[in-house]
Amino acid sequence: MGRCTVLKKGRFGLRLVTFLLTLSLLFALFGCNSDTGLSVRDHNSTTAGVIGQPKYEKSDSFRSRLGTSFDIVVNWKASNVRQISDEKYIVGLEVDVILECANIILSEQENGNTLTIAGNRYSFKTERIESEAYDTVRYRLFKKNVDFDILAGESVSIPLSVEWNCNAEVNGININQSVKISDKADISAKDFELPFTESESGKKRVAITFDDGPHSKYTKLIVDKACGEYGGKVTFFVVGERISWDRGASMIYAVQHGCEIGIHAYTHTKDYAVCTDKHYREEIYGTLDAIHAYLPSYDVKLMRPTGGSISSDRASESEFSVILWSVDSEDWRNKGDKGTEVIVENVLSNVSDGDIILMHDLYENSYEAFCIIIERLHGMGYEFVTVSELLGASMQAGVVYHYGR
Ligand SMILES: [Zn+2]
Repeated sequence: MGRCTVLKKGRFGLRLVTFLLTLSLLFALFGCNSDTGLSVRDHNSTTAGVIGQPKYEKSDSFRSRLGTSFDIVVNWKASNVRQISDEKYIVGLEVDVILECANIILSEQENGNTLTIAGNRYSFKTERIESEAYDTVRYRLFKKNVDFDILAGESVSIPLSVEWNCNAEVNGININQSVKISDKADISAKDFELPFTESESGKKRVAITFDDGPHSKYTKLIVDKACGEYGGKVTFFVVGERISWDRGASMIYAVQHGCEIGIHAYTHTKDYAVCTDKHYREEIYGTLDAIHAYLPSYDVKLMRPTGGSISSDRASESEFSVILWSVDSEDWRNKGDKGTEVIVENVLSNVSDGDIILMHDLYENSYEAFCIIIERLHGMGYEFVTVSELLGASMQAGVVYHYGR
């Protein structure tokens, strides 16, 4: 054990007697904490595996007055919460133990003190720190950062215990005492504020798009699967002449469920890179009129050229955002027996965060493959958004997009 030298600086006098009595009383009052079973470990700033950082900060302090000359102040702060799974959080706990002395200078070489946090013991060397008060000298006895685990909805009480050993000689009187003070830091995961939307919390997103509908059967089934089962949305690029009375109803159903509608073609027989201006306008605005016949106030923002083909002038002058794709399911060429497997593989082997996936709401295999794809992507942590949601506020008319990332 090291030595603690106490020097008289001013009005010390009889305070020493009071101090010694109080020290003895405190020593009798506070016992040692046993191990609590709480999972506490040395602070580590890594964020690997973190899926969210809820806003949270709680701090408190407790103080033990030793006579009229010494105060031990234990300040603790819980913050830096990291969510690492649906159920588990890591919380950073900082404990800062300060000794305040009136008019007394202590040696800064004192050893043998321990701070115990939830049964884990740490030593520290006393160091003098700045004090704002004229007649107060401050020493830091301990400063320690630890991490501890907390489960969602759980509350924990973290026992904090400070043991300060003083072996000193003042005016011929030996101070050879040990003092312990204890309290608890109470933390509740119920107080964590989760300000994140799912996408802000790092969820991967894709826009699954369907061309060449609406279809009287598959359009509605796709909406039910994406919206009803997975809480997601998809986007349909429609063909004007296929919007007959029952198919128009499918399109309305999709919009009512939050899905997005864009223009594809009217006859689906023209190539926008080479066709006449007259034909180009008929394909685009004939389809816009067909959409508005069923959805009069719907704001169409997207268009997708047939075959992904459009001249750069027409793309840049378009009043719509031109949406191509980054993952092609090639569902239209896989209508046979093994087709579903191939379509699923085409998507899952290529997909990543921010992709726009091309499919068609026309074929049985496409629908079967879509059901498997959305289930697997959901399991991989993806969420399913419209093209406008994927591209966000930066989406502009007259710009060609292949993906949103
Ligand atoms: Zn098409």
